[in-house]
Amino acid sequence: MNTALLSGKSLAGLIKQRAQDEARALENDGLHPTLAVVVATDDESTHWYVRSIERAAERAGVGCRIIDLGHDATEQALASVLGDLSSEPSVNGIILQTPLPRGVRIDELVGMIAPEKDIDGANPLSLGRLAVGQPAFAPATARAVVEILDHYDIPVAGRNVVVVGRSAVVGKPLALLLLERDAAITVCHSKSGPLETYTRAADIVVVAAGRTGLLTGGHVSAKAVVIDVGTNVLADGSLVGDVDETSVRGVAAALTPVPGGVGSVTTALLLLHTAEAARAQSLAGRLPVG
Ligand code: NAP
Repeated sequence: MNTALLSGKSLAGLIKQRAQDEARALENDGLHPTLAVVVATDDESTHWYVRSIERAAERAGVGCRIIDLGHDATEQALASVLGDLSSEPSVNGIILQTPLPRGVRIDELVGMIAPEKDIDGANPLSLGRLAVGQPAFAPATARAVVEILDHYDIPVAGRNVVVVGRSAVVGKPLALLLLERDAAITVCHSKSGPLETYTRAADIVVVAAGRTGLLTGGHVSAKAVVIDVGTNVLADGSLVGDVDETSVRGVAAALTPVPGGVGSVTTALLLLHTAEAARAQSLAGRLPVG
C-alpha cells in the first residue's frame, strides 16, 4: 500500500492568501484587522509558536499584538487584559495562549473573550453555538482538519469517522463540525477501551490525544485516511504527532505529516478568522470606518 502524504502546506498557503486578500480589502475600507495574543508562560516552545503566528500575520497584512504578562501572572490580571481587549475596537480577534500559570482557571478566563472576537473558539458560548448550528468561530485546529479533508476531496458524509480525544478545543468541536457534514462519528478517549475496536473499521481516523506513537499500523485498515493532530516535542527538540508514522505508512490510504500537516493550516486559519471577524464587526457597526 502506497500511503499518500496529505501535506498541509499548499492549503495553508491558499488560506493565508485569502486572509491577505481580505486584509487588503479591509484596509481599503479603512480597517486594519488585528489579532491579540495573550501569553503568560516562560515555555520556550509556546513563545516559538506565538512568534510564528506573529510572522505569518505580518506577511498577511494582519496586525498582531503580543501581550506577555509573564509566567507569574494572576487570574485577575489576565481577566483584566481579556476584558480590555474584548471592548477595544482596534482589536478584532483574541487568543488566550496555553499553558497558563498554575492555579489560574482557564474556563473562567475564556468566558471573558467577546464571542465575536473569539477567533479560536475558546469561549464555551462558541462551542454551544457550534453544537446548535449557530454561527460561531470553531477552534482553528478543528476547522483545519475539515479544511484538509475538503482540500483533498475526501468525502465525510455517511463515512465512519473516529476522533481520538474529547477536549473542548479539538475533539469535541471537531465531532460537531463533522456531524454537521453528515459523518457517522465515534469519539474515543482514555477510557473508551482498545482503540483498534473503533479505528480498524473507520474510513477516517483523527488522532488528537497528545500521546506519541498512540496510533500504529495495527490500528487501521487499508481504506483509512489518518489525520494526525498531535504535537509532541521529543527530548531532542524534534516535533512528532500521535501517529507512529513508520508503521502507519504502508498500511493506511493516507496520512497527514507532523510537522507540515494540521498545524500549518491551523495558523493560517487564525489569520483568516481574524480578517473574517474584522469584517463581521465592521458590518455590525462596531468599528469606526475611515
Ligand atoms: P488534551 O486536552 O490533553 O486532551 C487529550 C485527549 O486525548 C483527552 O480527551 C484524552 O482522554 C485523550 N487521550 C489521552 N490518552 C489517550 C489514549 N491513550 N487513548 C485514547 N484517548 C486518549 O489535549 P488537546 O488540547 O485536545 O490536544 C491534543 C493534541 O493535539 C496535543 O498533542 C496538542 O499539542 C495537539 N494540538 C495541536 C494543534 C495543532 O494546531 N496542530 C492545536 C491544538 C492541539 P480523556 O478525556 O479521557 O482524558
